Amino acid sequence: MMMHDFHYRKGTLHCEGVSVLKIAEQVGTPFYLYSHKTLTEHYLKLEQAFQSARPLICFSVKANSSLAVLRALVKKGSGLDVVSGGELYRAKKAGCPASRIVYAGVGKTDSEITEAIQFGILLFNVESIPELERINTIAQRLSKRTRVSIRINPGVDPHTHDHIATGKAESKFGIDLQTARRIFRNAAHYSSVSLCGIHVHIGSQIVQGEPFVQAFEKVLLFVDHLEAEGVKIQFLNLGGGLGIIYSDERPQTASEFASKILPLFRSRSFRLIFEPGRFIAGNSGIFVTKVLFVKETPAKNFAIVDGGMNDLIRPALYGSFHDLWPVMKKNQSQKFSYDVVGPICESGDFLAKNRKISKLKTDDLLALASAGAYGFTMSSNYNARPRVPEVLVRGRKFSVIREREKRTDLIRGEHVPSWV
Ligand SMILES: *Cc1c(COP(=O)(O)O)cnc(C)c1O
Repeated sequence: MMMHDFHYRKGTLHCEGVSVLKIAEQVGTPFYLYSHKTLTEHYLKLEQAFQSARPLICFSVKANSSLAVLRALVKKGSGLDVVSGGELYRAKKAGCPASRIVYAGVGKTDSEITEAIQFGILLFNVESIPELERINTIAQRLSKRTRVSIRINPGVDPHTHDHIATGKAESKFGIDLQTARRIFRNAAHYSSVSLCGIHVHIGSQIVQGEPFVQAFEKVLLFVDHLEAEGVKIQFLNLGGGLGIIYSDERPQTASEFASKILPLFRSRSFRLIFEPGRFIAGNSGIFVTKVLFVKETPAKNFAIVDGGMNDLIRPALYGSFHDLWPVMKKNQSQKFSYDVVGPICESGDFLAKNRKISKLKTDDLLALASAGAYGFTMSSNYNARPRVPEVLVRGRKFSVIREREKRTDLIRGEHVPSWV
């Protein structure tokens, strides 16, 4: 399925007004390519759908943490959801105001907590009692008060891949409702913390509304109980998890989602927060790679490409599907089946399996679609492969927003002691 900012013009794949072939000639392969238009439009779609509630939308930095991508979203009014000190650093570098930053994650270190308190972020999303104690102690030491949301685990099954389901009772994320209630009752104990929010994030790539509605109804019931006990909840952070189209999913649109969710919160005065990652960035990016060899075996045809699982790990990690597009369309009706595999020395190193496409040959360029979220951010240097460049297109303009790593980057910071 084509996304409208990625389309063919005279048989050549374009991103907005720029030929993907031209970019490939200039930067070499493999590389990630993002459309500024898709990226910002997806943010705006969500903003518009929830207009009546005026939520704070905090893009989830782990989905795509490029400074240029973050900057583009921050300029549209987006906040950022960070999960580490490194992401907080990126958020600052992208010029995100502290008042639009929320910080989640089960394992925050003292120095990460200190940095976030000093910067004055909007909210910590807290995932355990020891973490809350720690934040309180550090805030006290700094003579600052800091705001906290308790991430609750509503115990719902979001019907998605196990590795990306986070709201089930046995998940390491969040705090069960009973414990959460005890925390709020005991709020006075945390004198340097303002316990003012509830956070819930049930998982990722959720394509139906029901799991969200189920989880949010549980959250509201919980909040009602708290408020009956005199607790005032100011922020309600509903997390991320909105699914996108990879192949034949029919995910709800932003406005369908809003029409299911908004009625739950009408007549309530919370400031709503959302943390979408995939929904905003997923379909705004592609991964472009070149065929090195076509290997025909009695069992299968393999297109061996220059991009591998170290560059795009989702297929290997979750068995994810990314649509396969030729950069140059061929006028051949006959299609052949290929596994598109990388050069990494692992059998799990594949990008696509059993795909029907016109006959491939060495130097053909291929694009893996929907690679804008959890693509580059999950890439590594495995097999001593330099990480690939990222390119951003806006209209007829394009820029390398992150350079291809060099050989020297691979050994930067390494030392061989004289006693070796
Ligand atoms: C990963 C994550 C998100 C974003 O998830 P998407 O599925 O990309 O929308 C939001 N909130 C938290 C706490 C996360 O861990």
